Amino acid sequence: MPLLDTTAIRADFPVFEDRGLHFLDSAASSQKPRQVIEAMADFAAHGYANVNRGAYRLSVSATERYEAVRDKVAAFLGAGSSDEIVFVRGATTGINLLAHGWGSLRLRPDDRIIVTEMEHHANLVPWQMLARRTGARLEFIPLGEDHRLDLSGLDRLIDEDTKIVAVTGMSNVLGTIPPLDVILAAAREVGAFSIVDGAQLVPHQPVDVSTLGADALVFSAHKMCGPTGIGVLWARPERLEELEPIEYGGDMISTVTRYTATWAPIPQRFEAGTPPIIEAIGLGAAIDYVEKIGRQAIADHDTELTRYALDALGDVPELRIHGPVDTESRGGVISFTMADIHPHDLATILDQHGVAVRAGHHCAKPLLEILEVPATARASFYLYNTTEDIDALVEALRDAGEIFGVI
Ligand code: PLP
Repeated sequence: MPLLDTTAIRADFPVFEDRGLHFLDSAASSQKPRQVIEAMADFAAHGYANVNRGAYRLSVSATERYEAVRDKVAAFLGAGSSDEIVFVRGATTGINLLAHGWGSLRLRPDDRIIVTEMEHHANLVPWQMLARRTGARLEFIPLGEDHRLDLSGLDRLIDEDTKIVAVTGMSNVLGTIPPLDVILAAAREVGAFSIVDGAQLVPHQPVDVSTLGADALVFSAHKMCGPTGIGVLWARPERLEELEPIEYGGDMISTVTRYTATWAPIPQRFEAGTPPIIEAIGLGAAIDYVEKIGRQAIADHDTELTRYALDALGDVPELRIHGPVDTESRGGVISFTMADIHPHDLATILDQHGVAVRAGHHCAKPLLEILEVPATARASFYLYNTTEDIDALVEALRDAGEIFGVI
C-alpha cells in the first residue's frame, strides 16, 4: 500500500480542496504545494529586486537568495560545486543549449549521435537539427518487445565515432527506466558527451550526479512541485568549460568593448538576461518540499501505486497497457488504450468522473509509431496520489467501455 501520508500531503495542495479531483497527469506537470506558492508570493511581495545588479540591500539580498537556490540544487543533485548548476527555462532549453553550444561546434560529418527510441521530442528534435547542421548521423537504441531497451547492439551503436549519447532517465510514455549505468559506461568508454534527460526521473527518484556517470543532466522544476519557467542543467566542470554560450546579452559578459566581449565565469555566462528569479525561489521551495518527504519514499510510493494500478487495470476488459506490466525498472507512468476508443474520447469520459489523464502523442511521435497507435491515454502518479485515485480511474474506464459499447 502507498507509503506516504497522503492525507497530510494533499492538505498542502490547494488544488485538492476540490475533493472530486483525481489528478493523474503529473508527468505533464505536477501540482504545487502551498509552501511553493507562498514562498514565491512572499518573495515577490517583500524580497524582490533584480539580481546581480544593485548595490542596494534589496537587490543584494535577492541575489543571495537566488544564489542560495543554486547551492540547494547542487546539494540536491550531489554536484561537486554550485558552479556546475546552470539555471535554464526547463529540460528542453537545457538540451538545446548542449546541442547548440557543444554539438554545433564539435560534430563533424559521420560522427554519431545516439538516442533511444523512447525519447520525448525535447531529447530528439534538437539532435535531429544538430545532425542536419553538421552532417552527423542520428541513431537509436531500439525498444525491445518488452517495452524496455534492447541493448544487444550497444557495442556497434556506441563506438569511436559516437560523440553524443543522450538518453531519457524515464520514458514519459512507457514509464520505462533504462539501464543508465550500462549506457553511460559505454558512452564514457568512447569519450562521448553523455546526457541524461531527467525530466521524468529527477522528480521521482533520488539522482546523484556524483555516481550517475553522466556528463550532463537536465530537469524542469514544474514536474517536481515547482513553477514553470525554470529548470536545471547540471554538467561536469570539464564539459561546461567546453560549452559555448548560445545567448548573449546582459549578465553573461565579463567585459564589453564596442566590437568585442568576453564572458563571465561559469555558470553566469550561460544565463544571459534577467533570470527567472521568482521561479528560482519556487524551485528552492520545491526542493525543500520534496526533500522533506524524501525522494526514496516518493519513489517507493510511486512503485506501490504503479503495482496497484497495473493490477487493477489488468482486470479492465479491452484495456491495453503500452509499457512494462511489472514494476521492475519503471516509474509511475502508465499509457493505455481501450479497444478502438480514441484516447481523447476516453479522457473526456474520465474527466466527467473527475479523473484527469493526458491523451495524445505525449511529444513522442516516433515512439507511438513503434507502438502502432496514434495516441494513448496516460495516467501518471506523484506523491499526492492515492489508491482511491486509481479506483476512480478504473471505475471511469469501465463506464467509458460501456458507453462506447466495447465492454
Ligand atoms: N523530457 C521528458 C522525458 C519529458 O517528459 C518532458 C516533458 O514532458 C521534457 C523532456 C520536456 O520538459 P519541459 O517541457 O519542461 O522542457
